[in-house]
Amino acid sequence: MASNRNLLVLPGDGIGPEVMAEVRKIIAWMGSKRAVGFDIQEDVVGGAALDKHGVPLADATMRTALAADAVLFGSVGGPKWDNVVFDKKPERGLLRLRKEMDLFANLRPAKVFDALVDASSLKPEIVKGLDIMIIRELTGGVYFGEPRGTSTLPNGEREAIDTQRYKTSEIRRVCAVAFELARKRRNKVCSSEKANVMHTGVLWREEATKLHKEQYADVELTHMYADALAMQLLRNPGQFDVIVTDNLFGDILSDEASMLTGSLGMLPSASLGATDATGRRKALYEPIHGSAPDIAGKGLANPLAETLSYAMMLRYSFDLPKEADLVETAVENVLNAGYRTADLLGGGKTAGAKKVGTQEMGDAIVQELDRLA
Ligand code: NAD
Repeated sequence: MASNRNLLVLPGDGIGPEVMAEVRKIIAWMGSKRAVGFDIQEDVVGGAALDKHGVPLADATMRTALAADAVLFGSVGGPKWDNVVFDKKPERGLLRLRKEMDLFANLRPAKVFDALVDASSLKPEIVKGLDIMIIRELTGGVYFGEPRGTSTLPNGEREAIDTQRYKTSEIRRVCAVAFELARKRRNKVCSSEKANVMHTGVLWREEATKLHKEQYADVELTHMYADALAMQLLRNPGQFDVIVTDNLFGDILSDEASMLTGSLGMLPSASLGATDATGRRKALYEPIHGSAPDIAGKGLANPLAETLSYAMMLRYSFDLPKEADLVETAVENVLNAGYRTADLLGGGKTAGAKKVGTQEMGDAIVQELDRLA
């Protein structure tokens, strides 16, 4: 039966297909037990697409992605394709998706599960209960601004230029995502830039303030210089709810924040585009980890980052907060019950842990969903 929820699944390379297979079990569970079905198309991306089509993302796949309500992505890349030319690298497939879908807001939650509080490099009392959402502007700023490039000066020295540019509309649309999201969380936004030394920073601060006053005065807004924020994330991360920042600072700060949680195998992300006339937003969901060639094919990958990416998809693309909560609670309970893939064992010192592989972890989540439902 048609579900009106069109989902494109792109497992990719390395551990991508392994973790996606576990999420497919949860998708099947949702279909049969909660009547939350999807019309699913699955396709290749990255190295797998390069092998099949000679490009890291086929045009037909791109068209399907543009027509889908959401894309659920695994991971791409691996040593097999390390020596291919730059514009055919597996990662170019992901970059093309982000660019053509105009996914300008990258959401990276940094949430510390109680059961994993010891995995953080910070003291448990600093990270316990941590739940931050970092929103990074993803399609503008210094990674795209022109002019850019390297040239040789008359004196023979080489010079490289990157340009940080932001327009009002680019700042406003990503800040709007932050305010909207904050309203569904703890109602606080911290906007971050370097208004003390950068013109784009001044514009960012002015536009964030203006938009807040016009449409989101009910949300608490603070501003913090990006260097101060980097420090505060380590000193007192619990003060933050939603953080919104530009592409460059967001790249760095979201990596820093995600590491507070201590584990790459646990971290989901969402990338969102603009809302169209029907209220639909283009969106891509993916774990932040890569294809982990060192463990691929060994049944060792942690499927929870992909699982939590799927939960984000339920919440942000399909407005199914109860089902998203259910999946997140199942993850939490399975961790509390001691289930650990190898990456979560921290050198094997976790007392009472049950060491499991990828499939056993996926099965444990499905069993827990059964128990909760
Ligand atoms: P990686 O994230 O693949 O792996 C880093 C380390 O974390 C490895 O030791 C790996 O075994 C471990 N790890 C990652 N995910 C895990 C999981 N779910 N469970 C257990 N352990 C996990 O990063 P890398 O090694 O720098 O890159 C490997 C390949 O992935 C490269 O080709 C890189 O270009 C690509 N990559 C792709 C993406 C993406 O698809 N979005 C992101 C980052 C890297």
